[in-house]
Amino acid sequence: MLLRISLFLLLTAGALAATPPGIPRDLARERAAQISALSYHLSFVLVPRAATTAGREELTFTLKSAQPILLDYRDGDIQRMTINGRETPATPDNGHLLLPADRLLAGENKVVLEFTSAVAPAGKPIIRYEDKDDGSEYIYTLFVPMDASMAFPCFDQPDLKGRFQLEITAPQDWTVISNTDPEHSAPAPAGQVRTTFGETRPLSTYLFAFAAGPFRELNGALLDLPGLYVRKSKFEIAQREAPEVQRIARRGIAYLSSYFAQPFPFPKYDMVLIPGFPYGGMEHAGATFLREESVLFRTAPTHSDLIGRDLLVLHELTHQWFGDLTTMRWFDDLWLKEGFAQYMAYQALDALKPQENVWQRFSLSIKPSAYEIDSTLGTTPIYQDIPNLKDAKSAYGAIVYSKAPGVLKQLAYVLGPGHFRDGLRLYLKEHLYGNAEWSDLVHSFERVSGQKLDHWADMWIRHRGMPQVDVTWSCQNGQINQFSLAQHDVLAEGNLWPIATEVLLSYNSGPGIRFRASFDSAGAPFPQALGKPCPLYIFANNQDYAYGRFLLDPRSRQAVMAHLGEVRDPFLRALLWSSLWDSVRVAQLEPARYLSLAQQLLPAERDELLLRSIAAHSTTALHRYVSGGTRAQFAPAFENMARTRMLRSTQQDLRILWFRALQAVAETPSGRAGLKDLLTGKLSVPGVELRQLDRWNLVTALVALNDPEADAVFHAEQQRDPSGEGLKYAYMAEAARPDSKTKQKYFDDYLHDPARPEDWIADSLGAFNYWNQSPLTEPFLRPALAALPQIKRERKIFFLVAWLDAFIGGQQSAAAQAQVHDFLRTPGLDPDLRLKILQAVDELDRTVKIRQTFPD
Ligand SMILES: [Zn+2]
Repeated sequence: MLLRISLFLLLTAGALAATPPGIPRDLARERAAQISALSYHLSFVLVPRAATTAGREELTFTLKSAQPILLDYRDGDIQRMTINGRETPATPDNGHLLLPADRLLAGENKVVLEFTSAVAPAGKPIIRYEDKDDGSEYIYTLFVPMDASMAFPCFDQPDLKGRFQLEITAPQDWTVISNTDPEHSAPAPAGQVRTTFGETRPLSTYLFAFAAGPFRELNGALLDLPGLYVRKSKFEIAQREAPEVQRIARRGIAYLSSYFAQPFPFPKYDMVLIPGFPYGGMEHAGATFLREESVLFRTAPTHSDLIGRDLLVLHELTHQWFGDLTTMRWFDDLWLKEGFAQYMAYQALDALKPQENVWQRFSLSIKPSAYEIDSTLGTTPIYQDIPNLKDAKSAYGAIVYSKAPGVLKQLAYVLGPGHFRDGLRLYLKEHLYGNAEWSDLVHSFERVSGQKLDHWADMWIRHRGMPQVDVTWSCQNGQINQFSLAQHDVLAEGNLWPIATEVLLSYNSGPGIRFRASFDSAGAPFPQALGKPCPLYIFANNQDYAYGRFLLDPRSRQAVMAHLGEVRDPFLRALLWSSLWDSVRVAQLEPARYLSLAQQLLPAERDELLLRSIAAHSTTALHRYVSGGTRAQFAPAFENMARTRMLRSTQQDLRILWFRALQAVAETPSGRAGLKDLLTGKLSVPGVELRQLDRWNLVTALVALNDPEADAVFHAEQQRDPSGEGLKYAYMAEAARPDSKTKQKYFDDYLHDPARPEDWIADSLGAFNYWNQSPLTEPFLRPALAALPQIKRERKIFFLVAWLDAFIGGQQSAAAQAQVHDFLRTPGLDPDLRLKILQAVDELDRTVKIRQTFPD
């Protein structure tokens, strides 16, 4: 309220000096109430190697009344501005341009601007990528969440949708892709070509985009497939992979159009593969950008990797409806688009490839990252208050990408599939090409189902944290005579959630007995269990419908550990393994017992996803949770197991996974010899040709482990792979070098070299903080924390969390833990950074606690 009043005063007084930085929500609300019929006519001139692009813009909009308006533009220069034909001085201040009231009209207005914006390899929203293989250059935009206003003057908020008309002048041999198809092209000065694109449907600024460079289109002749573009040096490789990607997109379009009862909402759909793209993908309307490395694999892919790629394609595709057609009003509802894209990608894949055990994958690869954050003091509700868009980047993370879809799965269980679908249809239909809030969606579900959801939505969307659900049961005369479920708030903040779950009573043979249990109190008895034969064990989240921590009671845990190898259903087996791992993480189950069980059961595990998960947990236990003595006992056995299974598994996917496991666990001289033999070809993974990044990962491990031959291996690989990407991977491998001088050089580079591409840094953070190098990297912990404000300002959305996870995650000691908690007491620490540190330090807190609870 205060901000609204002060803004009003400031605007009428024209007191530019007091313009707030970023985009405050009150400013956005006022503009959304004033402005309509918005359109942008934009021209950019792209000159190879130039550090800037010259732009021209005709902005038209209708105002309710003649009053001063702030236009957003930060970072570039304005050469000229006219408002309704009158020359007006333009001086951006704090990222805004004031359009004074005396130049504006009630009704239609036209502002013409000439400006220059930056083009750079990193830190800017118009990004240059240099292909070091053939020297060609690519330029692409990435505006989410509010960086369009660094590229051109605009109203940079999601609920002021505009129609865009774009003209790009670029070299003749470049292809330009944008939200619509090109309409015509004409020669321009200096041998360039000017391409004009058709006008878009109404779009939020963060969904407008273009990409330019010598891209080539794949399967251009097959018009019934969505377009796919790749840089020319990857054309041959991409040709092999393209049909699968285009086919799943085409099938996805058919499925989603029918499921949402809304045809594809834009005039065309293209996917553009962007090398070094900082996210898996970005759903620009009609022109999704995908990280090239997520589509054209740099490591030998398994079947599961290919399914992961399908899910990426379907996630971005879902956004064309959920996000692009109907857009959140403000980034506090980011989960609306991300939660649904994530959930719907799985649902669509389940419909398109029903044999893929999609929901098992959901429970193994989506939910754990949500639980990891949601059990920390740094967690947030799914709905995150964002008073200013400059903080919107912080809303991105596992709560939005993993908890929101997990909670939606619970909602689909509560509502039933028909009402769930009808609610989505109603919501989209009522907000076509418009904006909406989460309450609109909840009301749609309530209207179609007749169920009241206010309490459900309040607890799951507005409150942070999660329940732990415990089962208490006993038997008498071979029958259950007592059964109840209880919940408590994992963070001890006193919350109770409405929970709907499926309980499984499991027996030595047969499918077991299942029943549905719903409760929202601290605890409840369930008489439907009474009198049933006494089970071997009980698991209270069968099929993973519920969201929460479901540990096994002591009697069930003992039975599960004794019989896990006999559980035939891979989904149930996965849920039980996950529950055991949760017990390790809360320091109830000794990590060495988990390792023993893994050692005993892993060789026979045939489920690729589950094997991957258990192998990853075992590696974490080895490298973090057990001390050196225990690790020394287990490491050789795990190395041998990995090597043997890599050679002998009958499924190729499993051989690849065991190869990766060997690279992860090898540390003894014999284990390292195996890695070197894989590089020289003395040893090979039957039927599998190692790819570029497989090889560099082996080199990185040898460098990090200080193998006596690491230098020779590194130089040999550099000679073998002189490609552009080889340079990046060599940079990654060197970051693992175990000496202080290297670490210092890299650390300076991370913070002070503006030309270093962000993906090089992101890819090297793990190598820098290799698990065995805590004493070497600990001196960088405090400086890494101190650099957080700079990181938050300059880096793309997911970088900050990756930075924290790497630097804090590289540590294991109580001393490092104390340093982080000491830093948390810094006066005036940005509350948002504080939460992110609390999220990251939780794993270190657990590590210390587990080590203290189970010393050698
Ligand atoms: Zn998304």
